[in-house]
Amino acid sequence: MELTDKVIVVTGAARGIGRALARRFVVDHPKAVVVADLDGDGAQTVGQEIGGKSVQCDVSRETDIVRLVQEVEDIHGRIDIFCSNAGIGVGGGPEAVDDYWQRIWQVNVMAHVYVARHVLPGMLARKEGYLVGTVSAAGLLNHMFAAPYGVTKAAALSFFEWLAIAHGDSGIRVSCLCPQGVKTDMLAQELSQLRIDFLGAGALEPEVVADAVVKGIADERFLILPHPEVADYFHRKADDYDRWLRGMRRLRQNLLDSAY
Ligand code: NAP
Repeated sequence: MELTDKVIVVTGAARGIGRALARRFVVDHPKAVVVADLDGDGAQTVGQEIGGKSVQCDVSRETDIVRLVQEVEDIHGRIDIFCSNAGIGVGGGPEAVDDYWQRIWQVNVMAHVYVARHVLPGMLARKEGYLVGTVSAAGLLNHMFAAPYGVTKAAALSFFEWLAIAHGDSGIRVSCLCPQGVKTDMLAQELSQLRIDFLGAGALEPEVVADAVVKGIADERFLILPHPEVADYFHRKADDYDRWLRGMRRLRQNLLDSAY
């Protein structure tokens, strides 16, 4: 899909990957780019910079998504491309407290459900629309040190797969952005909390990831992989699941041994 004259919404766009997406999209002359974020001031700053509307929005609350969709449809009449990008990280395993599991489930999974629930009707009526989910390589390959993150990203990927299967023949396009490390506040926070640097070396600038998204949308590819090696790892996992698990255990132990 071309971006020219499209109405595009990006969540989590005050910072990081979302901000890079908003900045990149305007280059291709869309009709509008709407910047949504929990941080209303941050969203406003990005909105002013790119000449777009900003909306304060907590994507984990369905009422906020309803308001966002309504405001954009009232002004522009439609939403052509919705980038459901906002996400959070939570580390640990089953010992992570329920409040954290519930919060990451709401932000990393239910937000996409709310978006689809309220954006799809208009898209289906027009037989055209594009949903882009920022997932993660963790959706395909898990996360060795963060079960809540790996689990919710796998669930998000599964939900977008379902949308592509159920609505692909009705004109709805779906893509999942699945990068490894991207140089944002989220990655910096993860590195400082884990004290294990396993994504920093190959981490990409958000602008590089945004270029990959624009290409993925143009090509209408389901998986957008700014780190091409993720496709190899995914193949290896499918080829021999037990061997892949052994490799992941070995890698995890090596990383723990080298923790600073
Ligand atoms: P980031 O720099 O932390 O930016 C995320 C933005 O989303 C922030 O502006 C944040 O606002 C906002 N946000 C968080 N919770 C929200 C909510 N409930 N409603 C609305 N906005 C919310 O992170 P990022 O690295 O750009 O991450 C963007 C997406 O990429 C996430 O889905 C993440 O899982 C995914 N991803 C990141 C990496 C990486 O290495 N960075 C790799 C793979 C996938 P506040 O700052 O106010 O909380």
